[in-house]
Amino acid sequence: MVSPIRFGTATPRGRPSATIAVRFLPGVVLNGRRIGERDRVVHLVPAPAGTVPPDRLQAFCGQSFAPGQAEIVGVGRGMPCVVCLAAAPPADA
Ligand SMILES: [Zn+2]
Repeated sequence: MVSPIRFGTATPRGRPSATIAVRFLPGVVLNGRRIGERDRVVHLVPAPAGTVPPDRLQAFCGQSFAPGQAEIVGVGRGMPCVVCLAAAPPADA
């Protein structure tokens, strides 16, 4: 299994940052409703520390992802969550 941070955002110098970009997988059901494409905005999540996956991922905007609900998104892909963009620390922080 590949570490999620490998697919995380990168700083201008190419170093991995402490933030990863994720979005809901297609077909996830939330609150009894199957999500649509407009629900699949790309959220920013603090990279989990250590090697044990967390129970849930929590985005800077408050969106939470249970195991099996999220996919890691490459830099520049998908529509960004503007709340996450405003709330996430700068890449060099
Ligand atoms: Zn967000």
